[in-house]
Amino acid sequence: MKKILVLLVMSLSFLTIYSQQNNKLKRPKLVVGIVVDQMRYDYLIRFYNKYGNGGFKRLMNDGFNCENGNFNHIPTYTAVGHTAVYTGATPDIHGIISNNWYDKFLKKSIYCVDDFNYKAVGTNKENEQKSPYRLKTTTITDELRLAQNMNNKTIAIGIKDRSAVLPGGHTSNGSYWFIGKDEGKFITSSFYMDELPKWVNDFNSLELASKYVSQKWETLYPIDTYTESIADDNEFESAFMGEKKPVFPHDLPNLRKQNNNFDLIKDSPFGNTIVVEFAKAAIENEKLGKGEYTDFLAISFSSTDYIGHRFGVDSKEVEDTYLRLDKDLADLLNYLDAEVGENNYTLFLTADHAAVQAPSYLNSLKIPGGYIVQSEFENYILDLTKKLFNSTELIENVSNFQIFLNKEKITDLQLDAIHIAQVLANEIINYKGVLKVVTAQTMQTTNFTEGILKNLQNGYNQKLSGDIMIVPNPATIIYPITGSTHGSGYSYDTHVPIIFYGYGIKNGRSKKYIPVIDIAPTLANLLQIEFPNGNTGSIIEDALK
Ligand code: ZN
Ligand code: ZN
Repeated sequence: MKKILVLLVMSLSFLTIYSQQNNKLKRPKLVVGIVVDQMRYDYLIRFYNKYGNGGFKRLMNDGFNCENGNFNHIPTYTAVGHTAVYTGATPDIHGIISNNWYDKFLKKSIYCVDDFNYKAVGTNKENEQKSPYRLKTTTITDELRLAQNMNNKTIAIGIKDRSAVLPGGHTSNGSYWFIGKDEGKFITSSFYMDELPKWVNDFNSLELASKYVSQKWETLYPIDTYTESIADDNEFESAFMGEKKPVFPHDLPNLRKQNNNFDLIKDSPFGNTIVVEFAKAAIENEKLGKGEYTDFLAISFSSTDYIGHRFGVDSKEVEDTYLRLDKDLADLLNYLDAEVGENNYTLFLTADHAAVQAPSYLNSLKIPGGYIVQSEFENYILDLTKKLFNSTELIENVSNFQIFLNKEKITDLQLDAIHIAQVLANEIINYKGVLKVVTAQTMQTTNFTEGILKNLQNGYNQKLSGDIMIVPNPATIIYPITGSTHGSGYSYDTHVPIIFYGYGIKNGRSKKYIPVIDIAPTLANLLQIEFPNGNTGSIIEDALK
């Protein structure tokens, strides 16, 4: 009996070891994050019938599509959006409160990823010194590196510097962005490395940017089939410098001189194509998804944003850009299938914000909307302080729909800043186009649980934000009357695609409200790693196997 027991215990422990060996922790080889700058959710639907089977449709139909994915912060700008995606947090915690903002401590306006402690690498241009130091939390890319004892790689790629620097986090092995002007190449910062890797130099030597701006931008399909967008020649969009009308074909070779040469790449769909080509080169040369550890490739497409700003949500140019991006995406997915393996990668696609339909266009259809002129608004506030407090020195800065008071001056005058903020708020509500005005004091003492004020509160950083926050009416923007922009907490700016695809992802869809900050913790759970350290998102359980 004893013998049998010993044998049984021995065979049991053997079985345990055996099963441990066979139940090694499984992770995908590669995570691919795709952010499409200014992509509204409705672009998935609006152009659905014109998309091919290998791009957006493949992700929507074979992946998990969150149909009601939304940002839950204000302002909905590029830096803030990319950061929310990768940190699972909102600006109240992660500290990236806009693209540019007024730094109360430095007493000047700053740009989110400028860092003059580092040098640009790959260019002599002085304004290319970047790092993520203003980002106060870790990213999902950081956590994946920490979880694997720094044995894996993170590579981040974007047209815009901020769209590569912020997703790559603090521990990126290389974050690269495109420099236009007379260069037309990908560069980085000494925060990551002292010189560009050979493969990046090789890629730049291909001079793809030159090739792309040597061709006219024509529509991919006959323009009369673009029935999803308004007339090509309309008054709601702006032409390139040197163009008589904002219409196809856009003669890029002849527009180079007047439009900052290679900056035209950003303003055309070829900016997305060059990002895909660069991503493929990164996968090949960095051997992403080929090692023992899980790598992360963060890709950001931004030509969509530049084109949306110039031509507007409803333009033929935006439609053409998405039809072309669909092809670029299919190309990228095919490349991943071949190089990494069809079920070896997990991918997500989202946006950094969406966009408003040009208020001038909406007005032409009798839909309300309008414009606030920044300089007029600033003068109005100065006049107010003159009238109410007999001083024009109480205001330090007005930006991003926030007002920063001059605290030193207020103390000198023996006035009370909280009182001044509230009195001003009570007056500013009367300004045309303004819907709500809320003071910092209210942000600190009230817990908003839903709606636009919750979004405002998520975007309010007690240390960095202003003293008075202004919410304009829907479709009311500070912008020229042509083209589209973004920044608000309304659904036209917050509603974006969230699609998961590939390893570990269920096929399906959700109609629930899902904040974009849920992407990072969902990935963390799939990868069985810790959440980014400022995370306030939740796991989207329905999306995971
Ligand atoms: Zn953006
Ligand atoms: Zn934009």
